[in-house]
Amino acid sequence: MRDAARSGRQGARAWSSRRRPAAAAGESARRSGPPTASDEAGGASVELRLDPSPTAMVWTEPGRPHEAIAVPTVVLAPGDVLVELELSTVCGSDVHTTRGDRTAPTPLVLGHEQVGRVVVLGEGAAAVDGSALVVGQRVVWSLTVSCGRCATCRRGLPQKCDSVLKYGHERLVTGWELSGGFATHVHVRAGTAVVPVDGDLDPALLAPVSCGTATARAALDSAERIVSLDGAVVLVLGAGLIGLTVAAMAADAGARVVVVDPDAGRRALAARFGAVVTADPSAAPGSDDSVEHALETAGGAPLVAIEASGSPKAVASALTLLGTGGVAVLVGSVFPAPPVPLDAESIVRRLITVRGVHNYAPRHLVEAARFVEDRHGAWPLRELVGDVVGLADLDAGIAAAAAGGSVRVGVRPGA
Ligand SMILES: [Zn+2]
Ligand SMILES: [Zn+2]
Repeated sequence: MRDAARSGRQGARAWSSRRRPAAAAGESARRSGPPTASDEAGGASVELRLDPSPTAMVWTEPGRPHEAIAVPTVVLAPGDVLVELELSTVCGSDVHTTRGDRTAPTPLVLGHEQVGRVVVLGEGAAAVDGSALVVGQRVVWSLTVSCGRCATCRRGLPQKCDSVLKYGHERLVTGWELSGGFATHVHVRAGTAVVPVDGDLDPALLAPVSCGTATARAALDSAERIVSLDGAVVLVLGAGLIGLTVAAMAADAGARVVVVDPDAGRRALAARFGAVVTADPSAAPGSDDSVEHALETAGGAPLVAIEASGSPKAVASALTLLGTGGVAVLVGSVFPAPPVPLDAESIVRRLITVRGVHNYAPRHLVEAARFVEDRHGAWPLRELVGDVVGLADLDAGIAAAAAGGSVRVGVRPGA
């Protein structure tokens, strides 16, 4: 142990490791949280001493600045991966949490949209397709850690695993301090879907993939199981990262996309993300900027409505505006809001399907990464990330994200 520590200090970015048997004394005390896939995988853990120590930004309560902690030792269980981050982005849910709109188990390391490169591999660590990972490889990974064995995982809903852990959402615990994206490194645990991505792309294209882009893919997948997108009018409510990405993906699939957002700047952006027409939800009914006028221009009642704002009014209008046999996918309602009235008779007579989508399954993450790699030349995806702050300025970055200028604010370790 002392030898390992000494050799780890020989130079900047140096690290040393030693193997630990799986059942080493103290192992269970060092690792916490529900059991994950690694716990039954057997094999040896790897204890790492890093120099300089990885840093994580810890959040405790609204109004209180983040505090940096050093994490000199990381123990990788079989299947775990240590990733050095290149860029993180501030998701809307980070804003909601830090504002106190919703509760969170504190203290915790926020951040769950990020891209980085593999630094150290735990024994047997593999990508989601089963291929071996390589040190230096650039990767994104799922928001959730899942067991793969419980009834919920087996039903194809690993994001709701009975023992799920979520990056950027868990209370700080000894043994998994590097659990969120607002840090220099993330300790990616066995049971996470790890997806290798293009090593040459601008990291700003890839950081949002692990939440916003993959969730957009999941929302559209949910709609496509009910209605074919080709030729359909698709109504998108809310032009944040999810709404804009849904618009571009739906346009790629042959849909005629209508995007609704109260912000004129976001509507202008939506027009560049595949919307054939945009609308202002506050415009007078029948006026040029109204939703009714936009739908008329696009070709009539939508067969798909993707609600990505979380606004109860937007949820209600999604349900009201859908055409016969249409599907409403609710994906934006991830914070407490008043209930939405439901006209059950109207839902019945129009044969409406209402689906909720929260997070995503590994295939959506893979498809989201391929979308960004293949289509960043077709859609202005790079413009979704505006300001980039250093990790030490994380609070200012979250404040900028809350102010709502750019769709995403970036956080760069060491910047
Ligand atoms: Zn998110
Ligand atoms: Zn499970």
